[in-house]
Amino acid sequence: MAYDYDLFVIGAGSGGLASSKRAASYGARVAIAENDLVGGTCVIRGCVPKKLMVYASHFSHLYKDAVGYGWSEVEPQFDWSKLVTAVDTEVKRLSQLHISFLEKAGVELIQGYAKFVDAHTVEVGDRKITADKILIAVGGKAVRPDIPGIEHSIISDDMFLLPEQPKRFAVWGGGYIAVEFASILNGLGSEVTEIIRRDLILRGFDEDIRASIQEGMGNHGVNFRLNTTVESIEKVEEGLKINLSGENAEPLVVDALLCATGRKPKLDGLMLENAGVETIGGAIAVTQDSRTTQSNIFAVGDCTDRVNLTPVAIAEGRAFADTEFGHTPQAISHENIATAVFSQPEACTVGMTEGQAREKFGDAVRCYRARFRPMFHSLTGAEEKVTMKLIVESNTDRVLGAHMVGKDAAELIQGVAIAVTMGATKRDFDATMGIHPTSGEEFVTLR
Ligand code: NDP
Repeated sequence: MAYDYDLFVIGAGSGGLASSKRAASYGARVAIAENDLVGGTCVIRGCVPKKLMVYASHFSHLYKDAVGYGWSEVEPQFDWSKLVTAVDTEVKRLSQLHISFLEKAGVELIQGYAKFVDAHTVEVGDRKITADKILIAVGGKAVRPDIPGIEHSIISDDMFLLPEQPKRFAVWGGGYIAVEFASILNGLGSEVTEIIRRDLILRGFDEDIRASIQEGMGNHGVNFRLNTTVESIEKVEEGLKINLSGENAEPLVVDALLCATGRKPKLDGLMLENAGVETIGGAIAVTQDSRTTQSNIFAVGDCTDRVNLTPVAIAEGRAFADTEFGHTPQAISHENIATAVFSQPEACTVGMTEGQAREKFGDAVRCYRARFRPMFHSLTGAEEKVTMKLIVESNTDRVLGAHMVGKDAAELIQGVAIAVTMGATKRDFDATMGIHPTSGEEFVTLR
């Protein structure tokens, strides 16, 4: 049977864009549907605008740090609407750029919401489109606990569009999104309280790293309400009243509460049942090579809830296109994926945590730690520390994990991730000359 397209991609985010262009490069006839701005979460309401706001938030510290280096003190003024407008302009520019990349690649962009009619047919508006293969790359969305007044909270999508800076800002949750926005708003001068239901943020990260980030954020001025949860939210004259329970249950009054309690695949309305695509735990069930329960339909990125990171969605999408259209089967590994948290202090990680390593290798695990003041802060007087940690398997000497908290951590870990992915040993690390004076040299001199 002749189909309209060889490949129809649903969702023009990181995974969808990468796979559609790669498939088209092999000569496939490709269309991609998007019902919002082209670019997806990462470009429009995630990584990119977030990182720009992270940069903005660094300046308050830099102004202070400069004084130790002989610069005169300044009283900086910050203009929220100027930042939000500049970020929005950049986001729209990037979205247009992605549209032009699609055009250049020969991928047809179809604006609208796509839903399945059957395994080879989707409907976008009043148009029915057929395709040999279909890729679902619809991403995820924030979820909010069902408590009274939750409608008064905002989610991360809203952070980029707030007309005014919330001067008293609360964040609910202890994951990536929560700690990043707590740090951003703190850096921009808001009074920030982070509410977490445990005693440490960032569950899943190495314990030393969690403690270091939390301590560093506290030193920067973020207030933590530990072992505490939100019971209800009320609109009152002075702002939002947040009623809490747990260890630190005194109510809080703030201008905005960011609910950052997790995300889930955005599958509503896709009519997956019409195509025989099954889900598991709310995510599209896929094999390692991203095939769904319907043999001609594939899914990549956050809607499969594997490792929810932009580079992973891109790698999954390209591997799918190479395999299905380029006749060069590719498999990607979900092991040793380096990731960074753009909190202040910044943190990064690759490979196993100490806990994971001990679970797998028991006592055959050696840990190397360093904690020191980075050279930059020797003249600023700031209470800033760098924490570094290597996890090594004693029998093979192989480095199982590398972790860091501190200035430029995110920039530094990429090279270390190559070594860890290649199976480097501690001896390999030690045989590498350090670059002096940097924080990174500690990774090759840990004793
Ligand atoms: P996460 O799943 O990372 O964190 C959710 C947080 O909310 C956890 O601290 C969790 O606590 C808490 N939580 C969940 N439910 C409740 C509840 N009912 N009551 C109280 N607390 C609750 O989600 P995020 O939204 O922060 O991030 C989503 C994903 O986005 C991440 O997994 C990451 O892959 C990606 N991301 C990556 C970034 C990066 O690479 N820098 C930046 C931003 C997002 P507990 O730990 O106790 O379960």
